Amino acid sequence: MSQIAPHFAGPGRHPDLDAEQVRALVDRSRAAQPAWAALGFDGRRRVLLRARSIMARDMDRFIGAVVRDTRKPYEDAQLEVLSGVASLDFWAKRAEHYLKDQRVRTRSPFVFRYKLEIGFAPRGVIGVIGPWNVPMINSFGDCIPALAAGNGVVLKPSELTPSLGLECEALMREAGAPDGLYAVATGAGATGEALIDAVDFLQFTGSTATGKRVAERAIQTLTPYTLELGGNDPMIVCADADLDRAASAAVFYGFGNAGQICVSVERVYVEESVHDQFVAKVVERTGRLRQGLGHGEPGRVEVGPMISPAQADVVKAHIDDAVAQGATVRTGGGLVETSDRFIEPTVLTGVTQSMRCMREETFGPTLPIMPVRDIEEAITLANDTPYGLGAVVFTRDRARGEAIAKRLQAGTVNVNDAWMSYFALEVPMGGHKQSGIGARHGAEGIQKYCDKQTRVVARFHLGNEPVWYPHDGRVGRLLRRVIPLVYGRAPR
Ligand code: NDP
Repeated sequence: MSQIAPHFAGPGRHPDLDAEQVRALVDRSRAAQPAWAALGFDGRRRVLLRARSIMARDMDRFIGAVVRDTRKPYEDAQLEVLSGVASLDFWAKRAEHYLKDQRVRTRSPFVFRYKLEIGFAPRGVIGVIGPWNVPMINSFGDCIPALAAGNGVVLKPSELTPSLGLECEALMREAGAPDGLYAVATGAGATGEALIDAVDFLQFTGSTATGKRVAERAIQTLTPYTLELGGNDPMIVCADADLDRAASAAVFYGFGNAGQICVSVERVYVEESVHDQFVAKVVERTGRLRQGLGHGEPGRVEVGPMISPAQADVVKAHIDDAVAQGATVRTGGGLVETSDRFIEPTVLTGVTQSMRCMREETFGPTLPIMPVRDIEEAITLANDTPYGLGAVVFTRDRARGEAIAKRLQAGTVNVNDAWMSYFALEVPMGGHKQSGIGARHGAEGIQKYCDKQTRVVARFHLGNEPVWYPHDGRVGRLLRRVIPLVYGRAPR
């Protein structure tokens, strides 16, 4: 343990904007948006690529903004900023591909004479509400495709982590975006509610409980939304897995960002023939981790603090509940004395499915590991949750891994890795069940920020269409004969 000092990046450093102030930011963004849309894909690409280059050249400026609020290790913050750079690059270059007019061929005899086309137009001003855990990926990251599509954006970051969003306000100005196009509404829940009321579309990332409140609010104004919510991701380790890789992955994806990632490995199911071997490897690797403050320097620590005393309390309560019900702490288990923000990386065995650490989202550095008879049992237990965000499978047999993946109720499944879905921007990432509605990334991840328009254009036409008036009976009698011939035959 090193470099631990009490700290709480609490609210109050930035103004808590009220409804009127939020409305003013949205109005300003709305005024700037038409000129931004008029730049077209080429013009917007140039601005976004300039932003990408500034971020890539001056990475530590953005890493510093993340570390200032979260005090996470340099490498955790760097991974976020890398994703920001990659996202600016990706959406700058690919927005046009996803949003160009789409011609659709019809197989319907009713519209064969028509040209069918789908077009995408920016909705106006997008509201983005994000959590505190990865302010680049889940807050500014969701603004990037919205901007690339030609919208204005107002972001309400968590009151605990406003710095990165504000730094990106300066970034967008430096890159040449119109003043006010992208703005940050600092504040707590009430600021978020005001934003929902004022925007044309809402992208929300946060807990399932808050997501439900957000949906209720959005429905009052019929504001469309997508929700990226909580998870309780299982990891399945098959007996044939590369156990060294699986153990290293469990430690990295369980304890990375101090376990405060929506797709962290939250619970592990291991085939019983390799359970003890796997646990020994995980415990050994966990013992080598350094925990503390990284002070914005690379290479100092692996595991950082919890974001707040309240979050530390939740995690400790899950550990205590497991122990009270008979689980064994194999390593870790404690709140660090000098500050209540650090939870030691904790490996638990002897856990059961009914314990809080298995049933609820812990969102902390804990790895409860349970032996299973076989993969059938692992799949059943993995799916036994109201969540369905991500899941992870480790096996040397890739085809088997993919077959297991198809049976897991999760929006994304990684085989022999985890978190990669965050960086695969071409494919959607969203939750099943109570982990969300809609998705980020892929075609869906940018088309949702647009109003879709279907255009049906008569290519050649008659003076009067047969189904138009007058109804003299000829068409009705003809259709009565023709429709059974075309559609009347049922498959045997
Ligand atoms: P919360 O749900 O507490 O907060 C999320 C955001 O909503 C914050 O900006 C918060 O503001 C704001 N908010 C709170 N109340 C309201 C309201 N009534 N109306 C509008 N906005 C409101 O989540 P956390 O910040 O605690 O983040 C952790 C959660 O986020 C975990 O459950 C995690 O799984 C989930 N998450 C999901 C991801 C995904 O992609 N599916 C990715 C990352 C995290 P404030 O913080 O200022 O109170």
